[in-house]
Order: sequence, then structure tokens, then C-alpha cells
Amino acid sequence: MNAHDSSAHHHQSALALHHQIASGQCSAVSVLDATYATLKATEGALQAYTCLTEDLAYQTARNVDSAVSRGEKLPLLAGVPIAIKDNLNLTGYPTTCSSKMLASGYVSPYDATVCSRLKAHMMPIVGKTNLDEFAMGSSTENSALLKTKNPWDLNRVPGGSSGGSAATVGARQVLLSLGSDTGGSIRQPAALCGVVGIKPTYGLVSRYGLVAFASSLDQIGPFATTAEDAAALLDVLSGQDAMDATSKPESMSSHALNLSQKLLELPADTLKGLRVGVIAELSGEQAEGFEPDVMAAFEASVNTLKSLGATISTISIPSVKYGVAAYYIVAPAEASSNLARYDGVRYGLRVEEDSADRPANLHRMFRETRAAGFGSEVKRRIMLGTFALSAGYYDAYYGKAQQVRELLRHEFNTAWQQVDALICPTSPCTAFEFGSKSSDPIQMYLSDVATIPVNLAGIPALSIPCGFDHQGLPIGLQLQGPHWSELTLLQISRAFEKATSFSGALPPIARRPVASA
Ligand code: GLN
Repeated sequence: MNAHDSSAHHHQSALALHHQIASGQCSAVSVLDATYATLKATEGALQAYTCLTEDLAYQTARNVDSAVSRGEKLPLLAGVPIAIKDNLNLTGYPTTCSSKMLASGYVSPYDATVCSRLKAHMMPIVGKTNLDEFAMGSSTENSALLKTKNPWDLNRVPGGSSGGSAATVGARQVLLSLGSDTGGSIRQPAALCGVVGIKPTYGLVSRYGLVAFASSLDQIGPFATTAEDAAALLDVLSGQDAMDATSKPESMSSHALNLSQKLLELPADTLKGLRVGVIAELSGEQAEGFEPDVMAAFEASVNTLKSLGATISTISIPSVKYGVAAYYIVAPAEASSNLARYDGVRYGLRVEEDSADRPANLHRMFRETRAAGFGSEVKRRIMLGTFALSAGYYDAYYGKAQQVRELLRHEFNTAWQQVDALICPTSPCTAFEFGSKSSDPIQMYLSDVATIPVNLAGIPALSIPCGFDHQGLPIGLQLQGPHWSELTLLQISRAFEKATSFSGALPPIARRPVASA
């Protein structure tokens, strides 16, 4: 297969590509050749990758081809190239978290559990993707390494913090990638790049080997171009893991396992019998700061779901208005503790004493290492979190935030007595221009007003493409459900996809003829 043929599989699904490889219609190595050809032709403009992992990818692809030639049955998604966010550990390759703290030479000695699973499924890992430093941000502008562009408009951000993973799938460099989501970092960039992104139920996917940001909120999840592909990738990732005490036993998570198989058994063209609630506080007149085009696409989506047979009602979740405030106590508090380990001794950067008039002093080494290694947003979070946890302030801030968290859980649980899923726009705005929010942290934090409550409650949610604004930028629809309701959310997504054409739309960068690049 030459590079020109590669455009063919950008337009197909990961599952279809897997079946072609498994049936011998094309080899995994030729698919990988074509993938790297496209990737390299577009990467100069897009800048989604912190590093490429070609040796590992080719080794995996060759293993797939020999398994096919021996007539072996391949595991789910074998042969399909995938990218991973650069806060996931992969043996023998750098983990940078897009931070100067780690980019100065840290190489991972072990695999994150999700990477072991990708390897067990013989999926070639093509490279590691850019992010906001330590996953803190909503635009990927906080990366200390490079500036990832939105595939729909290279003058705009891809969203964040998993901006590289969203952009690479949006641009069809690859059809699948992994991100992490603490307050919206999979769903918001998925919305801004026009792809599908899932934040699974807390405990469905092992966090072992994910560099910790806020451990009670962090989950790893898939990016894909269709709901069926996302379901298949989630199947590869899910399951209990002895290395993560918060990963749930299969008896508890069973509803969210084997999704791709279960999805096949559900009707694809009707949502009859399903009850969908519109979140009152994140739609209509109560939704503050949502762009009119976003609201219009959301209202059209509600009508599409209605026409597919779903029953629509309005549900109030009053505490969503406190979500962002509570998150910016809980997440920085956990981050301040998790990031204490970057001390110049154990990982990456160390700023050494350099002159005779500044004698060696351990505390000064800690301080200078952290001052040089962390960017300003990370420092802001560490200071916020340290303050919120300090004696005398704990009850006023951390205690109160935990109460909001409990209220949110209670309000969502009450909603599930009336509806099977809740919907709202994923992000109040479409992709914004570089620099337009980076000087105002509160504006940036508000990008996650609709996604944060989900992490605080531990429930699953996903974003699917649901329209375009007047500038042609993609808009995302967020679906949320009770714990372990991933199947219902995917069923609704697949029916929505089949009834609309938003998921199939390609950005200019993916339409560029590869051969001429
Ligand atoms: N944008 C949010 C933050 O900056 C969420 C980030 C994430 O989910 N990792 O914290």
C-alpha cells in the first residue's frame, strides 16, 4: 500500500480496519507505513506529538502480520494504530507530561496498565501526545513543549488537557487515541476537535501508570471517530487491576464490560423506551455564558433524540452551579500532594548548586528545582491546594467542597429515578483563538462548567459531535448516566450518529492529498 492509499483508511472505522487486517486484505505493517506517512505530512502543521514510538509500533505490527499468516485469531482491534497521551507510562520511552520537570530525561521503566492492555491486544502505539502541563488546563497552551493546533482551524486551540490526543484523531492521523479526564480533559477537547470522547465510570479503567493529578477524579478513556470504535477501545481498556485499588471488581462493573458485543444486540435506529433529561441549569435561559450557536446545535440535538423515539424531560441538578468552585478546591488539594514527589531527587529535573558562594543546601535545591521545573499554572494549583488544606482553612474550603461533591452525587442519583441519561452541551464555546483565555484563569476554568460535575460524582459521560457553529467549528453534545451506564450512553450516541452526519465530517487538514505533501 503506498502513501496515497492511506487516505482510504482515514475515512473508515477502526473496527473495519481491524477486520481488513485480520482477514489478510491488508497487512498491519502497510497500514502503519501509511499512518506514519500521513502523520508526518500533517504533523508540522498540527504538532500533536511529543514523541513518536516507531520501533515499538513496527514490532507490534510485524507480530500482527505473523499471527495472521499463522492463521491465529487476533484480539479485538489488533493492528489498529493508536496514540497515547504523554502522561501515560510506556516502558523505554520518555514520559514528559509536557513539563520541563520531566522532559529533561525521565524515561519510564514500566507500562501503565492501559499500555499493557494495548500491547496484549496487539495495537501499534504510534506515539505520545501533547497535553497541558500535568493535565492542568483546557487548551493545551500550558504545554511547556509545543503548541498543538485545532485540526479545524490552525489558529485555534484543540481544547485540553488531552489536546494532542483529540487533535490527532480529529485530523485523522490515527483513528484512536487515549486521554485522561479529571474535570473534562477528554470530553472538552473531543467537542472542540469534532470527535467522540469518553470519561468512563470512576473505577472502570485502571489508573496504574497514569501520572497522578487528582486521584479521586482522574480516569483514562478513549477518543475515536465513532461510538462503536470508542466502545471497542473501552473494552480493551476496562477491567479490574490489582495495581489500582480503586479499580472495581468485575461483579460491580459488569454492565460496562464487553460493550462492543452488547451494542451489536441493541437496535441502532430507535431510542424508543429511553428517557433522556435535559439539565435545566446547563441549557435554555439558565445557561450562562454558552454561545448561541452551541445552544442552537444543542436544541436541534434534543429534537433529533425526540425523533428517534426518546422521551425528553427537563431535570434540575441545582448544585452544578457550584461544581467549578468545588473542583478548584478538591483538584488542586490533591494535586498539591501528588506533585510533592517532584523534588529533584526522584524524578527528572534537578537544579544543582553551582557556585561557591551558594553552598549546597537541600531545601534550596528543592525550591530551585520546583521553581525552574513547573510552569505558572501548575504553581498556581500547588499554591491553591496547599492553602486550602492548611490548618484553619480546611473546614472552610476542603470540607465545604466535599459537601458540594456529596450534594451533586445525591442530585444525580435522584435524577436516575426519572431518566436513563442526562444531556447538555459539552463546552459553552467552540474552539477559541490562541491566547484569548490564557491570561484569565477564571475564563479558562469556566470551559469545564458542564464537564466537572461528572468527575465529582464519579459517573460516566461522553461527548459526540452534534453540529457546527457559523465559522464551521465543531460542537459537542455531552451524555451522562448512572454508574456503569456506558452501554446506554453509547447506544444513544450510535443512534444519533446514524441519524446525523456530524461524525463523518472531515476537517481541511484531513482532506489534504497525502501524496503531494
Ligand atoms: N480543565 C480542567 C483543569 O484544568 C480539567 C483538566 C483535566 O481534566 N485533566 O483542571
